[in-house]
Amino acid sequence: MTTTNEAVKVVAQKKAFMASSKLTIFLVHPQRKSELPHEALANMGDDQAASQAFAARWGGLWTEKQAAAVAATGQELEAIYRTLRELLQKAWRGDKDAIVQLEGMTAVNFRWHYTGKRAELVPEDLWTAIVLLFLRDHAAGRTAICVNPDCPAPYFIRKRRTQKFCESGPCVEYGARLRANKWWHEHGGEWRKKSKGRK
Ligand SMILES: [Zn+2]
Repeated sequence: MTTTNEAVKVVAQKKAFMASSKLTIFLVHPQRKSELPHEALANMGDDQAASQAFAARWGGLWTEKQAAAVAATGQELEAIYRTLRELLQKAWRGDKDAIVQLEGMTAVNFRWHYTGKRAELVPEDLWTAIVLLFLRDHAAGRTAICVNPDCPAPYFIRKRRTQKFCESGPCVEYGARLRANKWWHEHGGEWRKKSKGRK
């Protein structure tokens, strides 16, 4: 990464991201406002429908050339994608080895592209962009796992340090219920006494 103050633009395949030298990355094409690709991959289900839905929204993790090279070796691409997803999930849970492995993966598959005043750093495939986004958010302490045991998409990017639940409706409700129960547990006795006294 260069250390100039000039903006660095990180572009993944057809998708573009803007980044400052601090790697504050913004989606240049914010048509998917409600989703980030690293969250989407970490939460991708095991079945074929889930991986197809992911591919429909974000495209393949690798370039067609990379994917063709893998297919030529007889390995099943989807199985490899699931392996990458598992590596990302492990890192998301804080596994140090997985994080080191991901860091190693950012050493390749980038190229610099210079446009006027700006240097653009271009990941050649979506997977590299996802790794970069994850490492940026992990370093900022923003990668979190939703505390609701029934959360269907527990890997999320938190907005506040104290945020324990993702922003899906049921999880927000679950969190509110837990807080209400805790309050009742701590203050219910007092409240009952007071309301009796008022009668
Ligand atoms: Zn959740």
